[in-house]
Amino acid sequence: MSADAEALVAAATALVEAAADGAVHTVAAAGLTVGGRVVTGLNLSHFTGGPCSELVVLANAAAAGDGRLVLVVAVGNRGRGVIAPCGRCRQVLLDLQPDVAVLVPDAGGATRAVPVRELLPEAYEWQVQRAPAGERRAEPTS
Ligand SMILES: [Zn+2]
Repeated sequence: MSADAEALVAAATALVEAAADGAVHTVAAAGLTVGGRVVTGLNLSHFTGGPCSELVVLANAAAAGDGRLVLVVAVGNRGRGVIAPCGRCRQVLLDLQPDVAVLVPDAGGATRAVPVRELLPEAYEWQVQRAPAGERRAEPTS
């Protein structure tokens, strides 16, 4: 794991261990911005919905004026370690941060950084679909 990845895992782990309550807050995330800042966020569960920690990181990075992320990771409470993003977060990350990489656990218990595009193959791309037809970028052919 790279030093950047280790720093993000450490930041998210520290936050989830300090703030998770096992009910409303159960996951923390950390993101590394293009500017080199580590931004963290905590999920907020509620029956009406609520943001996952990765989405809170996106908002917190924007609020800090350094909104472009290069790497993001989520860590679960109760020692769950690095967890893969849910489907909604994959879609939001792809649409808002298409160049970000995401740390995911592998079958052997290690983590690896994966471009978000690889986490959502054959994806619906909101930014492409909402652009006027003449302004849509060409899709890759291979
Ligand atoms: Zn999520």
